[in-house]
Amino acid sequence: MSTSAAPDAEAVDDFRREVRAWLGANFPPSLKGHPALLSGHDELHGPPEDHARWKAAIAGKGWGVPTWPVEYGGAGLSDEQADVIAGEMERIGAFQPIMSMGLMMLGPTLLEFGNKEQKRRHLPPIARSEMQWCQGFSEPGAGSDLASLRLRCEDRGDHWLLNGQKIWTSYAHHSDWCFLLARTDTSVKHRGISFLLVDMETPGIDVRPIELINGISHFCEVFFSDVRVPKENLVGEVNGGWTIGKRLLQHERTGLSRLRGAKAHVLDLVPIARRYQETDADGRLADGDLRGRLAEHLMTDHAYRLTLERRRDEGEAGTKPTTPVSTLKNIGAAMGQQRGELAVELVGLNSLGWAGDGYSAEELELTSQWLHSKCYSIYGGSHEIQNNITARHELGLPSD
Ligand SMILES: Cc1cc2nc3c(=O)[nH]c(=O)nc-3n(C[C@H](O)[C@H](O)[C@H](O)COP(=O)(O)OP(=O)(O)OC[C@H]3O[C@@H](n4cnc5c(N)ncnc54)[C@H](O)[C@@H]3O)c2cc1C
Repeated sequence: MSTSAAPDAEAVDDFRREVRAWLGANFPPSLKGHPALLSGHDELHGPPEDHARWKAAIAGKGWGVPTWPVEYGGAGLSDEQADVIAGEMERIGAFQPIMSMGLMMLGPTLLEFGNKEQKRRHLPPIARSEMQWCQGFSEPGAGSDLASLRLRCEDRGDHWLLNGQKIWTSYAHHSDWCFLLARTDTSVKHRGISFLLVDMETPGIDVRPIELINGISHFCEVFFSDVRVPKENLVGEVNGGWTIGKRLLQHERTGLSRLRGAKAHVLDLVPIARRYQETDADGRLADGDLRGRLAEHLMTDHAYRLTLERRRDEGEAGTKPTTPVSTLKNIGAAMGQQRGELAVELVGLNSLGWAGDGYSAEELELTSQWLHSKCYSIYGGSHEIQNNITARHELGLPSD
């Protein structure tokens, strides 16, 4: 969250005009309607040189991370000004070209827990999208019960020594660095974990991609054999990593619920319905049942976005947010899955393609997104785990 004071209404209007003019001069129209990207390796739609120009322009303004301090690559703006930028981008069909796991999760965590040197070294390249980061939390046997993790981290005097395995590490094969949790004390569970920053080029790291149901291999197994990590790459205190990891997961859930909204560009259901479904004389979908369910989805989606905005406003006003992140994560995941189901239903048989002739690129993309939507309720903490968190922390129910 920004530490800048909120500007008055007139200043916001001035800022809006400035943003509008700048976007008009700098956003390449060829990229209109493009979805937000999670990594620097998502497939690009539109001329690559326009993507590069757009990213450089936003990075130059610090508008990829508008609320971060200027010294770390941000623009030092207030949350309200950041909202103006996001709103103006949405108005003209522009997208945020700087978005990554480093930005969404590690950046805010380092701002809070990193030392000066760690922030100075790592935040500016994240703000300019020059460094890709992956998240090394999950292990076989340590997903929902993350604190069971076993990746061994020994203090070898002048360095840390890592041995063990991570799994489901998204984009590890394209990442420059990894933020991870490792075990520095085997005699205790939560208080024996430390938070480390690891250069993926370090000898002893072996990355093996895993193929997903939609044919894409975006995540990997990562093996660590006698990996030497410099002492200065520890964030916070030895054995203090659990607190830092938990805060990072909150940023992940918040970011994921927002990203769900951004991805909505790709599955814009109304034009899909118009193209594939029969309409009546008034231009409405002829199938009343489908029409009703589509309308209900769009209304709920709208309410969900308003709730996200309200939660952010509550945070800015310093009051306790009325909707917890875990609830938002679950609703966002359910909305995304429902959107995928509805899209497939609207498109009908044309949504059954996997590859090749007979299906348009858009139809194949839609099928792939529907399959991918299955994981929304797993990553970032599964649906059941989010419900457990809500039950314990919001409703005060006893733990299982
Ligand atoms: C697309 C994708 C990307 C991912 N990317 C990353 C990444 O980049 N980095 C990373 O570290 N991890 C990543 N993950 C891993 C993700 O965080 C884990 O998959 C998730 O935390 C669930 O852990 P698990 O897969 O081990 O399932 P398990 O923990 O084995 O759970 C299996 C099932 O049991 C349920 N369950 C488990 N415990 C309880 C309980 N106490 N009460 C009720 N139900 C329970 C779960 O909800 C789930 O339905 C990714 C996962 C996916 C699908």
